[in-house]
Formats: sequence, structure tokens, C-alpha cells
Amino acid sequence: MSGLMAGKRGLIMGLANDKSLAWGIAKKLREHGAELAFSYQGEALAKRVRPLAEQLDSDFVFECDVSDMDALDDAFARLQERWETLDFVVHAIGFSDKNELRGKYLDTSLDNFLMTMNISAYSLVAVARRAAAMMPEGGNILTLTYYGAEKVIPHYNVMGVAKAALETSVQYLANDLGPDNIRINALSAGPIKTLAASGIGDFRYILKWNELNSPLRRNVTIDDVGGSGLYLLSDLSSGVTGEVHHVDAGYHVVGMKQEDAPDI
Ligand code: NAD
Repeated sequence: MSGLMAGKRGLIMGLANDKSLAWGIAKKLREHGAELAFSYQGEALAKRVRPLAEQLDSDFVFECDVSDMDALDDAFARLQERWETLDFVVHAIGFSDKNELRGKYLDTSLDNFLMTMNISAYSLVAVARRAAAMMPEGGNILTLTYYGAEKVIPHYNVMGVAKAALETSVQYLANDLGPDNIRINALSAGPIKTLAASGIGDFRYILKWNELNSPLRRNVTIDDVGGSGLYLLSDLSSGVTGEVHHVDAGYHVVGMKQEDAPDI
């Protein structure tokens, strides 16, 4: 254990199972000495999240639906009861109706547009405000985004629009929170097979395309995400805020199909 995170306490939001990006980050943070709390959505997930938290020496696990402002208030009150202050938060949350993560963006319904924006983008603002109140000496917030915010990825649709709002929120929040020594960054991960990703139309094709066409000619893993998450949440990145950091095997720099990539 290098102790990079020794003495630091943080909340991990968005752990669903051991495939979650949040799990890759949480493991790395614990390995480096962080003390962790976990929030999950819906009692059904409790039986998956509790044993995972235990593996990382935590019994501090509670429910929080981020679309419910009272639930968010309760969650942060609960945190404050046990920990007076907080050093970091990982926001690894996104949701949209999977029926609208296929076909055309043109067909997005108003209800799903608002719900997707609320859960996947506004929740970061709501979380950041409550977390900042527990960070009197400064702190660090990390969210997860995807390249579909920057370029059109077929089927990603309204989620891409929500991720664009999320990335811009990171910039505005960085400016608001910077004077209080609170940093906030986004980690833009390449495609990884998770519960959330399985809702995206033709996700297997996206995975294969990235594997064949990224500079590293592979997909990233939750351990790759965990390593970069550790960097962004530790003092190693002390001068970095408002950044969207790509962990995608370099895919975002490529402008066309690789010559050696077979047709798929
Ligand atoms: P996941 O399914 O493991 O995690 C998504 C989490 O969001 C789940 O724990 C779910 O319970 C939570 N969630 C959904 N609605 C919620 C709500 N109302 N309140 C509280 N929690 C809620 O999938 P993941 O891929 O690990 O997703 C984590 C983050 O990473 C998401 O923001 C996702 O968009 C982002 N991301 C994923 C990929 C990928 O390819 N898997 C790539 C880039 C970014």
C-alpha cells in the first residue's frame, strides 16, 4: 500500500456489481489507503453492494436515489453523522430508458430527456453542492463520462446529450468550487461491458470497433479506469481541475478506421 489516499475518506456512488466502473475505482482507492462509504439505488442492489463493500473493509453502505433531493439530503446527513468531513466523492451514475438508446435521437421523448438529464447530469450538481458543504479544507469530486458527449455514437442518443451537459457542468463546478480548494474532474472511459452499458443498442459492435481501431488496439478495463481514477482523486493530480481525462486506449484521437482493422 503506497498510502497515496491514507487518511482520506470518500463516498462511492454508483456501485452495482463487480463489473461496475465504480468497483475498479473503489478497489484502487482502498489499495492506497482510502476509507470508503458506498451508496446504491434500490434495496435490490443492497445484497450485491454490501459484500463488495466488506471486501474493501467498509460497513458504511446506504441507499440513495439521486433523483430524489430528500434522499440526497438524508444520505449526506448520514455521512456527516459518522464522518464530520469528506475528502472525495465518486459519481458513477447514469440512466436512460433503454428503448431510447437505440434508433434515432430525433425520437427522444420529453419525459425520458428530462429523466436522463436529471439522473445523469443534474445529479452531479446536487451531489457537489452537498459534498462541498462537508469539505471545509478542500476536496475532490470525480464523475464518469463517455466520448458520445463529443461525437455521435450511434444509439447513445440522449445519453450523449446528458454527458455533454455533465462535462460542461464539470467546468462550471470547477470554477465555482476552485476558490474552496475543491477539484472536480471527469474521467471519459472507453466502452466496458457493465449493467448500464448492456442497455445501449448494439453495444457489442461498439466494443469491437473500439478494440480494433484504438491506438492501443484493445479495450480498457475497470482496472485501467481505477488507476486513472486514483490519479485524479489523489494529490498526484493536485493542479488538475475542470478536466475531461480520456481513459479509452487513445480512441478519441483517431479520425478514421485503422488500415489493419478487419471489417466487422
Ligand atoms: P453500472 O450499471 O455498473 O453503474 C451505473 C450505476 O448507476 C448503477 O449502480 C445504478 O444503480 C446507478 N444509478 C442509476 N440510476 C440511479 C439513481 N437514480 N440514483 C442512484 N444511482 C443510480 O454501469 P457503469 O458502466 O459502471 O456506469 C457508471 C458510470 O460510468 C455511468 O455514468 C456511465 O455512463 C459511465 N460510463 C460507462 C462506460 C461503459 O462503457 N460502461 C463508459 C463511459 C462512461
